[in-house]
Amino acid sequence: MRTGTRKDAADDDRKAAPEGAAAPGAATRGAAAPGAAAPGAAAPGAAAPGAAAPGAAAPRLVARWARENPRSAALHARARRLMPGGVTHDVRLAAPFPVAVARAEGARKWDLDGHELICYVLGHGSLLLGHGHPAVVAAVRQQATRSFHPGACHELESEWAELVIRLVPSAERVRFTSSGTEASLLALRLARAATGRGKVVKLAGHFHGWHDQAAMGADPPFDGPDTAGLPPGTMSSVVTVPAQEAALAGALAAGDVAAVIMEPSGAAWGTVPLPAGFLAAARRLAGQHGALLVFDEVVTGFRWAPGGVQEVAGIRPDLTVLGKILAGGMPGGAVCGRADVLDLLSGSGAGPRVAHPGTHNAHPLSAAAGIAALGLAAGGEAQDEAARLAAALRGELTAVFERSGVAGRAYGESSTFHLLFGPAGPAELGPAALKAGLAPALSAALHCGMLREGVHLFHGSGFLSTAHSERDAEQTAAALAATLRQLQAEGLV
Ligand code: PLP
Repeated sequence: MRTGTRKDAADDDRKAAPEGAAAPGAATRGAAAPGAAAPGAAAPGAAAPGAAAPGAAAPRLVARWARENPRSAALHARARRLMPGGVTHDVRLAAPFPVAVARAEGARKWDLDGHELICYVLGHGSLLLGHGHPAVVAAVRQQATRSFHPGACHELESEWAELVIRLVPSAERVRFTSSGTEASLLALRLARAATGRGKVVKLAGHFHGWHDQAAMGADPPFDGPDTAGLPPGTMSSVVTVPAQEAALAGALAAGDVAAVIMEPSGAAWGTVPLPAGFLAAARRLAGQHGALLVFDEVVTGFRWAPGGVQEVAGIRPDLTVLGKILAGGMPGGAVCGRADVLDLLSGSGAGPRVAHPGTHNAHPLSAAAGIAALGLAAGGEAQDEAARLAAALRGELTAVFERSGVAGRAYGESSTFHLLFGPAGPAELGPAALKAGLAPALSAALHCGMLREGVHLFHGSGFLSTAHSERDAEQTAAALAATLRQLQAEGLV
């Protein structure tokens, strides 16, 4: 699988890793090291596979990977002179430097140094059909020759909206945005306008993009801003509560809450599973207290089922936030839900007008990709196939932990997996421990070790697609076994 050179350990160990990004935190959840950072896609504020503490020696696995990837290193050195941290998404900060990719196809990609990798990042979860699905590529190509951006209404936006309304159980109307972040921002604006109330309740650890009203309570200890630079007062209009019925009821009791927003899978696409019955309780409580229930299905939409978690759970939110798979790997997002709420955007006089411009809303290339992808995912077979393989992979990875004598497991739902180090399972650990990462050195060594074995994890987690195969799963299990052996040899586990 690997096409690049790989030096033996004795040679590697004599050299230090090149200077890398000063990654702020660790990445992989693990009871072993609470206090480190949270996982990737869904918690980018705290996600990079961590750098070793300043002055500490980098694990040998990290140094080896660094030496085997001179082109990624060189690109990073160039990028750091141009872009803060050398990255364009916080989640890509990595020690010693991020892997740079030259091309991708199906479940595989090739880094700049020529190594072939099994990809579990998949466009941060956008690619249910794998990289470069021929039907999606053809749809984008065709649209690009017709019109990139007519600056006018176009047929594809209605076709795309029809698909969303057909698939998402609670969708009566749709408004497209350019990203999931914009969609969550718009959903909260709509909720405030519809209810005439100002407050938003969110759940500890849940991530809804990077806009100001979502940038708090996502990272442990969940009681403060996740970023500097929030406008004064933002913290007082957003209340973060644990995912417990009593806490939610308490937050709603004053009758001043416009929206309760949550990832219906539990935080970070199921990294922190929700208590049984919580979604039904949230539905009931929001309704009782006149607040809108908003499901953020940016990750789970079209992945958990064609209709997302709400289809699986049989719970209808008032509004749903969509992104990722919605646009087939192109940029895009949407808010869908109750017609009476969405129609506030029409300015037709039915209620207070909610403004929402946006140059690239329902961009034709995104619409083309989205229609092609959703069309292929509409029947549910794609989700079932990816989920079946993910379940098998989780089983194989857990068996690898058992055989290697390293405490840990893989868990997760649908077509995802999360690696968890330590003896305790997800049910025994609280949100802080589950969203916390491994110690930085271990996190970076795991990440680099798996890359060296030909597997690109998404910060200790992963998404599967219809392009992944049993062979990929077997190779991934073998890669974990080899990596755990090396982590043991380094005394990291
Ligand atoms: N909501 C959830 C649950 C997400 O995981 C993400 C991104 O990972 C977002 C919202 C933000 O979406 P985007 O990155 O498209 O702005």
